[in-house]
Amino acid sequence: MAAPCRLISRLAVVSGGGSGIGRAVCQRFASEGASVVVADRNEESAYETLELLPRDYRGQEHVTLGVDVSLRESVGQLVNTIQPPSICVNAAGITQDEFLLKMTENDFDKVIQVNLKGTFLLTQAVSMALVAAGISKGSIITVGSIVGKAGNIGQINYSASKAGVEGLTRTAAKELSRYGIRCNCVLPGFIASPMTENVPEKVINKITPFILLGRMGKPAEVADVCAFLASDDSQYITGVSIEVAGGLFIG
Ligand code: NAP
Repeated sequence: MAAPCRLISRLAVVSGGGSGIGRAVCQRFASEGASVVVADRNEESAYETLELLPRDYRGQEHVTLGVDVSLRESVGQLVNTIQPPSICVNAAGITQDEFLLKMTENDFDKVIQVNLKGTFLLTQAVSMALVAAGISKGSIITVGSIVGKAGNIGQINYSASKAGVEGLTRTAAKELSRYGIRCNCVLPGFIASPMTENVPEKVINKITPFILLGRMGKPAEVADVCAFLASDDSQYITGVSIEVAGGLFIG
């Protein structure tokens, strides 16, 4: 089935666009007509994403830009280089797993800096650019995790960062609604991507019985929901979190 074309003439910036979920989001958005800024700290993988993006619509152009979302100057440089993007997806993220009893302060801080502060910096920079340009239509999508709600052994830093992302999103939705900017969060469950490729098989076998749909998700299935949230099909939705987890941990 051909993808719908709901994002023609829209400019989207996708952090973490070089890999996994972010790459799938770039592909889906481009196939729906958006021009995409693939933003990642890994410029090589961002370029690989760029090569995958279709340009089937008039005026559709894609670029890659290097960014470290945890650094204000880097995020500022990214947003100043482009036109104000009416769609922003915060998909950059890292893990640094360890048990609470062994977690170092440094590893705790690193994950918060990228996942939570990075989401704050990009969301703030994009919304400031939209407001300054008088563009009264925007969709900001953050990427939390089911783990932010349920907790997960060995992920004290990650689960805290992702719970924070949900709170940040709801607050941003409240503050930005007056400017026509919607903010929503997707909560992926257990998705097959480079982030999860080193999870041992025995752990996967332990988790799978708790997924109602009986399998790990695909990045493209998260991208489907991001495309919905980016498009006018969700124009009356803001401040919500949507689980994309195949029913993981329900019940
Ligand atoms: P991924 O394949 O590891 O992709 C993450 C991308 O973000 C990588 O290209 C990474 O670059 C980039 N990145 C990391 N730190 C960055 C920074 N400071 N600035 C800019 N880019 C940075 O992971 P994924 O599975 O697609 O995850 C995407 C998002 O979904 C993350 O926020 C993750 O927490 C969330 N999520 C994933 C799952 C899952 O099961 N996969 C579940 C729930 C939530 P490097 O290659 O250099 O690290």
